[in-house]
Order: sequence, then structure tokens, then C-alpha cells
Amino acid sequence: MIPITKLLIGEEEAQAAARVIRSGWLAQGAEVARFEQAVADLAGARHGVAVSSGTTALHLCLAASGIGPGDEVLVPALGFVATANVVRHTGARPIFVDVDPGTFNLAPERLEAAITPRTRTILPVHQLGLSADMAPILALARSRGLEVFEDGACALGAQYRGRPVGALGNPCCFSFHPRKVITTGEGGVITTDDGELADTLRALRSHGMRASARQRHDAPTATSEPIELVGYNYRMTDVQAAVGLVQIGRLAGILERRATLARRYGAALSAAGLTPPAEPEGSRHTFQSYMVLLPDHFTASQRDLVIRRLIDRGIATRPGLMALHLQPAYHDPTRPALPVTEALARRGLMLPLYPELSEGDQDRVVHELCSAVSELG
Ligand SMILES: *Cc1c(COP(=O)(O)O)cnc(C)c1O
Repeated sequence: MIPITKLLIGEEEAQAAARVIRSGWLAQGAEVARFEQAVADLAGARHGVAVSSGTTALHLCLAASGIGPGDEVLVPALGFVATANVVRHTGARPIFVDVDPGTFNLAPERLEAAITPRTRTILPVHQLGLSADMAPILALARSRGLEVFEDGACALGAQYRGRPVGALGNPCCFSFHPRKVITTGEGGVITTDDGELADTLRALRSHGMRASARQRHDAPTATSEPIELVGYNYRMTDVQAAVGLVQIGRLAGILERRATLARRYGAALSAAGLTPPAEPEGSRHTFQSYMVLLPDHFTASQRDLVIRRLIDRGIATRPGLMALHLQPAYHDPTRPALPVTEALARRGLMLPLYPELSEGDQDRVVHELCSAVSELG
């Protein structure tokens, strides 16, 4: 079976984790501090704050800015459900905005109409590892007094107009779930240039406490501090961070191989009349996932038949990004139609992509996909 994804992870990660375990300090400590700095360096940001997942990273940013009931947050309608869930967790309302048909990213020209007096924040997603078109989003946010938090869950190593994602002036949230390009098992990092925000995020991730676990452990007497913020337990552990540091060493090679394979897919699929994902000039895509579009007339059930046919041929594929506003949990009869998102959610198909995918297996994926599409279309 050709899987949809496969991590590049091995003995070095196992040894790094074992070293931490043998040290006897498994909580958040020096390894976490090194990992968050390494991620911040990659993202071109001054500070990194490591947390337990990409989801908790996003929630912490919203919580730190005091977003809550009565507020609205603009999110792309196409994507992964965590981006909307974190808004709901605060009591605020996610407002779904349509996306661009070529990049699958938030369509900046659709934002203006979605702004109301309750709008606080724009939450663009760097979809599947391709940076959202940030310049018009930031210009609009500035002119309307909105804040911007970036969902860069899939985008560590991505670039926008030659600059790393994470260095565009807003807090950016990265994920290290095993489905991402590199992993810590579970984990997330928020990058920011704002030292005061980083301090607040650090306190919020650990029950509102400003002293770290290590500081409290090393103190000669019991320390007590007034708790000023209602925080969470969103910490990462040193075992996870040690794995992440080894994974960061593999990142450049992983991204290069993914890009090579993605370009091979792009050439073969467009020659066959399918639509590969765009990579605009100046952007660097991580290709965390590879979503091809089936022909325009395909329904979601025809797409599911393609998936089943490919399983029979030993190839794993998945439905593409989902339309969040069509999920039952977010049902709202008054919402406007979001035609681009709805078409992409119907036509999208994730193809196998991972560093060790051989070119022969990749050619087989293209061949079987094209014959399934022409038979079932
Ligand atoms: C994976 C993902 C998340 C959630 O990250 P976790 O680490 O799994 O919590 C959020 N947003 C997007 C766009 C993602 O792809």
C-alpha cells in the first residue's frame, strides 16, 4: 500500500528522547527552551513559545488578546476544523470567508464585506503550507484596526515574498502533529517579535504562573506568586522538544524532497487535465499535503468512488480540505453561500506525498488516478 504520508523519523529521535528520559527531567525545561528558540530562528521571529499543539497555540493567542462572547473572528471557510473550534472555545463567533480558487487561501477581496462592528481579528491560514496573501490582509487589518493571528500549522519553512512565514509581524502558530512536515508527536509553537506578548503566552500556557516549572523546582524554598491570569495547562514536555530538535535538523532536506515530488506531480497531473495546486511567484510552499482538483463536474460521491478505486489498487488518498461552514457543528441557515469553498471541498483529493515516496510509486499514483478519473467521471 502506498500511504498518504510517512514520517522521516528514526534512531536519532529515539536516542534524543531516551537521553531526556534518563536525565530524570521530563517536564518543560531546557529542551523546550532550545526547541522554541530553534523554531523562532527558522521563522525569523524573536520569540517562540512552545505549547501542547497547534490548536492550543491558536487558542492561547485568542485568549491572550481577550477575545470572547460578542466578538467575531474572520476565518477561511475552507480548511481544517481546529481553526474554527478555537474561536468557539473563547465564546466568540467564527465568520467564514471564501477562498481563492488557485491557492485555496483566504481571498483578501472577500474580507471587507465580512467585517462588522463586532470583528476583532483576522485568522488567515497558510493552507497546506502555502502562505496566505498577507500584504492585502495586513493592509486591511491596519486600516480597520483589526488584529491578525496566523494559522501556520502546516507552514514551518514556508516563505511569502521571500520572507519566512512567522516573520510577518503577527503571532504565528505552528503545529508539530505527526501529520505535519516535522513532528514532536503532539506540539505547537507560537512565534512573535513582541516580548510582552511572549511573556503573557508563557504564563497562560502554565496556569497563569510566571515562574517556570524548573525555577520552582530549583528554588531552595517554596515559592509563591500571585496568579493574575486564568491560565491553562498547554505545556510541551522536554521529551517532545528533544525529538523536535532532531526533526528540525531534517527539515531542509524534507522540504526539498517534497518540493521536487510536488513539481513532478504538477507536471504529470496538468498534462492529464487535472488541476495541481498553485505556487505563486516569491512563495515557498511546504507541500505538507498535496491537494489536486478533480474535473469541475465531479461530485463529492464520485470523488469518494475514486478514493475507493485507488484503495483497491493499493494507493491511499483522502478527501481534500473541508468546507467548515457545511459541517453540522457550524450549521447556520442564515449564512451566505461560499461557492469557491464549496466547489473545492467537492473536487479536492489529497495524494500520497512524503520524502521516501519513490518516483516509480509516484508515477503509479498518477497513472491509477487518471484511469480512475476517466472511468468514473
Ligand atoms: C493541523 C492543523 C491544526 C491543528 O494542529 P494540531 O497540532 O493538530 O492541534 C490547525 N490548523 C491547521 C490549518 C492544521 O492543519
